[in-house]
Amino acid sequence: MATATSPIVDSRLGAAASAFVTSKHQMYIDGKFTSASAGKTFPVYNPATGEEICQVPEGDHVDVDRAVRAARRAFDGGAWPAMSPSKRGQLLYRLADLLEQHTDEFAELESLDNGKPVSIARVADVPLAVDLFRYMSGWATKTMGSTIPLSAGNDFLSYTVREPIGVVAQIIPWNFPLLMAAWKLGPALAVGCTVVLKLAEQTPLTGLRLAQLIEEAGFPAGVVNVLTGFGEACGAPLAAHDLVDKVAFTGSTEVGKLIAKAATGNLKKVTLELGGKSPAIIFPDADMDAAIAGAASAIFFNQGQCCCAGSRLFAHESVFDQVVSGVSDIAGKIKMGEGLDPSTELGPLVSDEQFARVNGFLKSGREQGAKFVAGGKEHGGRGYFVAPTVMSGVKPGMKVVDEEIFGPVVVAQSFASDADLDRLAAQANDSIYGLAASVWTRDISAAHKMARRIKAGTVWVNCHNVFDAALPFGGYKQSGWGREMGAEVLNNYTEVKAVTVKL
Ligand code: NAP
Ligand code: MG
Repeated sequence: MATATSPIVDSRLGAAASAFVTSKHQMYIDGKFTSASAGKTFPVYNPATGEEICQVPEGDHVDVDRAVRAARRAFDGGAWPAMSPSKRGQLLYRLADLLEQHTDEFAELESLDNGKPVSIARVADVPLAVDLFRYMSGWATKTMGSTIPLSAGNDFLSYTVREPIGVVAQIIPWNFPLLMAAWKLGPALAVGCTVVLKLAEQTPLTGLRLAQLIEEAGFPAGVVNVLTGFGEACGAPLAAHDLVDKVAFTGSTEVGKLIAKAATGNLKKVTLELGGKSPAIIFPDADMDAAIAGAASAIFFNQGQCCCAGSRLFAHESVFDQVVSGVSDIAGKIKMGEGLDPSTELGPLVSDEQFARVNGFLKSGREQGAKFVAGGKEHGGRGYFVAPTVMSGVKPGMKVVDEEIFGPVVVAQSFASDADLDRLAAQANDSIYGLAASVWTRDISAAHKMARRIKAGTVWVNCHNVFDAALPFGGYKQSGWGREMGAEVLNNYTEVKAVTVKL
């Protein structure tokens, strides 16, 4: 039995989601659904109540080794390398169709497991994952090299080819469990890699359900393997495994550094999508209603648990009070509640650990003299709820300004009327991170000048949190290595080979 306790099923779940939650959960290794080899399981909790939802397998290094060897076999021989790019693309497209057909089920599972509003999961997490698989399916037939004239002369014909890098380990976090799985799997499979995917311990449900759709779509055994387990016991041996050619990680900068170290054994390739402390910068000429609503959504979307959350708000001193009170008004009106309640706008944080972490930041803000304009209080009662919080009276050097909070908490700072764009950009860039930024202005020249000056992988103008499968996303500085999505991501999963012929 997977569990001794009977799972608690929420009456707001549809039949499909309930059936999945109450089924026996297994990992997916070598085309088979399987328990952990040690027979252990661990609980998955509902962050809205703190209650156990179900148990999932606690995979360890033995399961990691089984999965990696299966992926190795699938890459080195058999049906996958023999499959045409066109067929690979069709499988990905079929997976997208299957996922789309199960939109409600996946949205409900994501909401139950992560806490996020089901209304948002239905229009964001699931459709974005569907789009990603569709978009990547097109690349399966388009990973091209180039013909290169040699600088030394005409006696040679040289060309490059892009080949799949091999067996890829993918380790993902809990903030967008399904979408992060899609971001990782889509491009790796499109170019012909095989994968071992480790899900976040807090949110394994949609990834395990996705494994069933992967099987249904018809991917050959061993091409995708999906593991559940803890970071140290399951993630670490996966990142270190000698038969893995590449590791792709999304999560904290701290663990990202461990992944980079673990990869040195066989010098496997590494890409990292890590934390952020992204600025949202409001100029005095901005459309104020749009900027205020945008700045609020930049930080409160997904309970602030976004690596690119607009967690540092900068507003020109002439509009600072208006911006801070506008964002605080929105904060005060957001409807908090259980994710499965269809009217909920802001759900609980993902776990007791994250709840304690964010409350630690609130305490630190208070101790270091921040002024709380909205929120800042524990929400009380059960579940891991933190009210949307706006702090002013803050400056660099304070923990709440320098560190990633990963909760619905924004720190607001003003910039001076005489601050030129270089000084403003220096303020915005004053962070170890460089993931994203948004600039709010009607001045087209100022917008583009700021876009040049910001040291981040994404700059949004008059918007924030706009994602698209076609757009590369990733970080400067300690926000990571490499890019997700777009054509860029294909570089993460391919090696370039130069072939030269003497004519
Ligand atoms: P995390 O520890 O970095 O977890 C991310 C993934 O890495 C999970 O699958 C985790 O497994 C795994 N992992 C943990 N330790 C590992 C190790 N030594 N070797 C290999 N894999 C390992 O993130 P977290 O603890 O869940 O969250 C902590 C903070 O990270 C957050 O407060 C936030 O600041 C940041 N974060 C950033 C992102 C992002 O999108 N950039 C996402 C999530 C969190 P387990 O699930 O078992 O821990
Ligand atoms: Mg962790």
